[in-house]
Amino acid sequence: ETLDKGLEKSKTSFFNKLNKAVAGKSKVDDDVLDNLEEILVTSDVGVNTTLKVIERIEARVAKDKYLGTSELNQILREEIAGLLSETNSGEATEFTIPETKKPHVIMVVGVNGVGKTTTIGKLAYQLKKQGLNVVLGAADTFRAAAIDQLQVWADRVDIPIVKQSMGSDPASVAFDALQSGVSQNADVVIIDTAGRLHNKVNLMNELTKVKRVMQKVVDDAPHDVLLVLDGSTGQNAFEQAKQFTAATEVTSLAVTKLDGTAKGGVVIGISDEFQIPVKYIGVGEGIEDLQVFNKYEFVDSFFK
Ligand code: GDP
Repeated sequence: ETLDKGLEKSKTSFFNKLNKAVAGKSKVDDDVLDNLEEILVTSDVGVNTTLKVIERIEARVAKDKYLGTSELNQILREEIAGLLSETNSGEATEFTIPETKKPHVIMVVGVNGVGKTTTIGKLAYQLKKQGLNVVLGAADTFRAAAIDQLQVWADRVDIPIVKQSMGSDPASVAFDALQSGVSQNADVVIIDTAGRLHNKVNLMNELTKVKRVMQKVVDDAPHDVLLVLDGSTGQNAFEQAKQFTAATEVTSLAVTKLDGTAKGGVVIGISDEFQIPVKYIGVGEGIEDLQVFNKYEFVDSFFK
């Protein structure tokens, strides 16, 4: 329901554009496909993913000889759900964590301002609601505000946080947080990391070091590297995904600010382009405004 509301604008515009693309046509022909290509690109699905979708529809047209425009909506939905399945994006609705040796360690990456801290807070809240013991690690030591904001969320959710002063070594904070998690028998440790995209080599070195040091405490940590992207920024989100996937092995995506944005298409494009599952979506600023990504619900909202 929130997702429907959140994606109001994108669904209206995508639905309207799609209707326009097929207006007065009964058959999917080259004109319709050209129009479709344009609306997918302008909906931030990204060029590569758009071409993939168009090729798949062309293949269906070629196979069936005739494809009515009335069927196009359904076929597009299937193709997009298919793309999201190929990236292992799920259909769960509940917040769960996979069985790992305790604690399950989530390292969260992303640039400043995308909603990283908020997403960590909302996620911690949901996991705590499931009865899990969660510890936060404030390893974004570059900005004092980042540590303070994470502290605000830790207080709000009422969970422990491990932090040091601004400017301290992020790897050392991560190490402490994991040790604290182990000694408290925590189920989950969520590590915030610095979000500046200084240069690729520095970013890579820093994230690699944080990982290496964490593995001294929990040998297969991190179990999840969650990249947070702002869904309202279109091409920027693609660029950030490119930089972070080059710097470290990103295992899942959280796409924020999908409330009040016409850019839900970014979710499809980035997941496909980088072959990473979408795990969570942010649909508002409140503590309850994080959802487990469900590809069918998403496609429904996008197309309705
Ligand atoms: P960080 O710098 O990446 O840690 O970003 P913050 O978590 O501080 O978030 C930046 C701003 O985006 C804050 O004002 C948040 O309330 C807001 N924000 C985060 N997630 C969402 C979301 O899903 N929807 C909306 N509308 N705002 C969000």
